[in-house]
Amino acid sequence: MAKKPVNSPDTARKAATRLVTAGRDPASQHGFVNPPVFHGSTILYPTADDLLTHRSRYSYGRKDTPNTEALAQALQALEGPACAGVALLPSGLAACSTALLSVLSAGDHVLVTDSVYRPTRQFCDDMLARLGVTTTYYDPLIGGRIAELMQPNTRAVFTEAPGSQSFEMQDIPAIAAAAHARNAVVLMDNTWATPLYFDALGHGVDLSIQAGTKYIGGHSDLMLGTVSANARTWKRLRDTMWTMGLCVGPDDMSNALRGLRTLGVRLARHQESGLAVARWFAARPEVLRVLHPALESDPGHAIWKRDFTGASGLFSIILKPVSEAALRAFLDALTLFGMGYSWGGFESLVIVFDCAEYRTATQWEPGGIGLRFHIGLEDVGDLLGDLENGLAALNGAKQ
Ligand SMILES: *Cc1c(COP(=O)(O)O)cnc(C)c1O
Repeated sequence: MAKKPVNSPDTARKAATRLVTAGRDPASQHGFVNPPVFHGSTILYPTADDLLTHRSRYSYGRKDTPNTEALAQALQALEGPACAGVALLPSGLAACSTALLSVLSAGDHVLVTDSVYRPTRQFCDDMLARLGVTTTYYDPLIGGRIAELMQPNTRAVFTEAPGSQSFEMQDIPAIAAAAHARNAVVLMDNTWATPLYFDALGHGVDLSIQAGTKYIGGHSDLMLGTVSANARTWKRLRDTMWTMGLCVGPDDMSNALRGLRTLGVRLARHQESGLAVARWFAARPEVLRVLHPALESDPGHAIWKRDFTGASGLFSIILKPVSEAALRAFLDALTLFGMGYSWGGFESLVIVFDCAEYRTATQWEPGGIGLRFHIGLEDVGDLLGDLENGLAALNGAKQ
């Protein structure tokens, strides 16, 4: 008797269990636990009749493969019952651009949060403008008042919460209600929380985007984007991906699926250590403010608590103004925090940022220097010791 495949959609099971079971069927692959990696473009038809009637499970390497199916099914199981399909794209930015292209046409208007990931903004300003789509940036804290910015041709509202440098929380249900009242589609960049800590589709989002490069991959060794769609948006999304010829290499998909298996335990640790470091910073005299929605003092805390079920390991601080020499002394003294873009891997990272360089709808005047931290899986005591040394170097350079 055929055993029930472990990837059978069983949404009664908890997310932690679905992360382990979804998207694999050992019985169909000689008992091996993980799906094999299929390198391939051509798929052969065994007979002329199969060829002439297009009868085959798979047709071409750019479209569905056993590896796209495994990863997309696992992500779909994680999203839950509102998810009609998941598109896999070669980067998080490609996920943002493909999702936008799937809903917008020449003459349309899109509303985009001013806190949006900067390359997404560039896509709107350069590519969408060239294609005849106009963009209006809005205050991320606008909530239901977004209704006032809707134009007759507004087809989409793009959200991101929290902002990946500035950490404003958005009232997604209020924005979604206003957008849907005017028949606009709601997109969200949900990379920070992942589907594990924010059920975007369940809160009114129609297209939920992940930079899979970050927490899904989890090891800083792959590029991936994912877009989870509901029944309203799935077909256009899939057709846009296929029309544009976008696909992901099988090794990256296999590594992403491997990362997904441990997402639950990794995120729990990122959350715990991230909060410990955020609280430590909040008590330091060198720090003006900590931007972390899971802290009770954060202006976005009430929304975070209402809608989200957890926090990941990414947050920012505003350092009280110091000389550039003191800032450099701090950064160069750190030994456990890599200086580099991206995040979501096992290692801790830091960057300097300034949202004033690109914002257009809101002012960014934090009163000090913005530093964004990703808290990795190292021992948190070691991380705090490293930061303590860094601040000692900063204070030494101030004199
Ligand atoms: C990194 C990131 C992206 C883009 O992902 P890539 O895989 O680097 O293209 C999109 N949105 C957010 C919030 C990100 O942090």
